Amino acid sequence: MTSNTSAEWFARALHVTSGGVNSPARSFRAVGGDPPVVMARGEGPYLIDVAGQRYIDYLAAFGPLVLGHGHPRVVEAIRTQALQGTVIGTPTPSEIELAEELTASITGLDMVRLTSTGTEAVMSAIRLARAYTGRPLVVKFEGTYHGHSDAVLVKAGSGASTVGTADSLGIPTGVTGDVISLPYNDLDRLSEVMRRVGDQVACVLTEPIVGNMGIVPPEPGYLAGVKEITHAHGALLIFDEVITAFRFHYGTAAELLGVIPDLYVLGKIIGGGLPAGAYGGRRAIMEYVAPLGGMFQAGTFAGNPLSSAAGLATLRVLKEESPYARMDRLADRLATGILATADQFRIPVTLNRAGSGFTVFFGPRRVTDYETAQQADATRFARFHRLMLERGVYLAPSRFEAWFVSAQHTDAEIDRTLTAVHDAFSMLQAE
Ligand SMILES: *Cc1c(COP(=O)(O)O)cnc(C)c1O
Repeated sequence: MTSNTSAEWFARALHVTSGGVNSPARSFRAVGGDPPVVMARGEGPYLIDVAGQRYIDYLAAFGPLVLGHGHPRVVEAIRTQALQGTVIGTPTPSEIELAEELTASITGLDMVRLTSTGTEAVMSAIRLARAYTGRPLVVKFEGTYHGHSDAVLVKAGSGASTVGTADSLGIPTGVTGDVISLPYNDLDRLSEVMRRVGDQVACVLTEPIVGNMGIVPPEPGYLAGVKEITHAHGALLIFDEVITAFRFHYGTAAELLGVIPDLYVLGKIIGGGLPAGAYGGRRAIMEYVAPLGGMFQAGTFAGNPLSSAAGLATLRVLKEESPYARMDRLADRLATGILATADQFRIPVTLNRAGSGFTVFFGPRRVTDYETAQQADATRFARFHRLMLERGVYLAPSRFEAWFVSAQHTDAEIDRTLTAVHDAFSMLQAE
């Protein structure tokens, strides 16, 4: 049985999956609740829906597709590996080569453990930090995203209490009691809390450049301050670079910003469009991981040859072709054009950009943390999202996500996007 429109497909999906999606971020609930577009395929910088409509893709599957869809070298690597086995259950060459490439190219990554998702990698890095320090508490920051394991689905508690509260049903107080969630970019708050409970903190976990409340970069000196405070209390610093590693240059955001963590979490781009994650860092810490050490963590599909081959092919293209300067230039053109158009139509907009990723916040205020990100106008974003969709531009369906420019976008796509932005802003102004 085949259906011809998104509405037909989505009606079927609603019968058999919760909300019609396999990940809530894919639903259009944050942008007005229309049925989402059901995409049939991706092609370079484009998405094509089940009715044959084309869209310029700024979603990049929420981050992994730095090379766009179907890069010939990645497809070839997947094809070659698929013929030789997709999962084997022994050590295989491609996972060893991927681990070698990651450790060789990332400062502070002596050893790495591959996983199947970013969620698992974060969950395991937290367990490792607890194992290594023998302490229970995790400090994280409001508005960051670290996957969907229990410990990271905890938000700030009320008032002066440092104890977090559950950000999902089903998270027991035994978990929330060991997690502290603080405002990002606020060193005073962190040092005050660390003074009180720092001797019980296993790790301070953060995205170095936040990608999940929209793009929010650290203020100058912030990350260096976080590291200093973390180490002063004997805790480990974990950078969740699932979005940021290999997005801005051939390496991590930590290296760009000059602050190296004790542990990294990686994902998205390193799987080349297939499921992947990784965590790793200093050798002395990684030796706690089983089978060398007593911190248990495992995975049937961890480091599977298919994901490893796709990831390795992606990294090789990124290394050889270094598309970063080009992607930055295109993202800069787009961002500059969006700001100029907003100005022209008197639409208050704040734009946070890091290299080829940026977020357009509908509001006049600088966005530096979750509180200021939340002040952006949700209704206006929802309307903008719809207007852009109708003009063949696919944006992530949430005001807390980024636009990602890939290595396959060209000036032609940027021109067409800016025309769509012009139309959309002129309609927003009229409304
Ligand atoms: C996407 C993301 C994750 C979760 O990765 P999955 O592969 O979706 O489990 C974790 N951390 C950050 C920063 C992410 O952006």
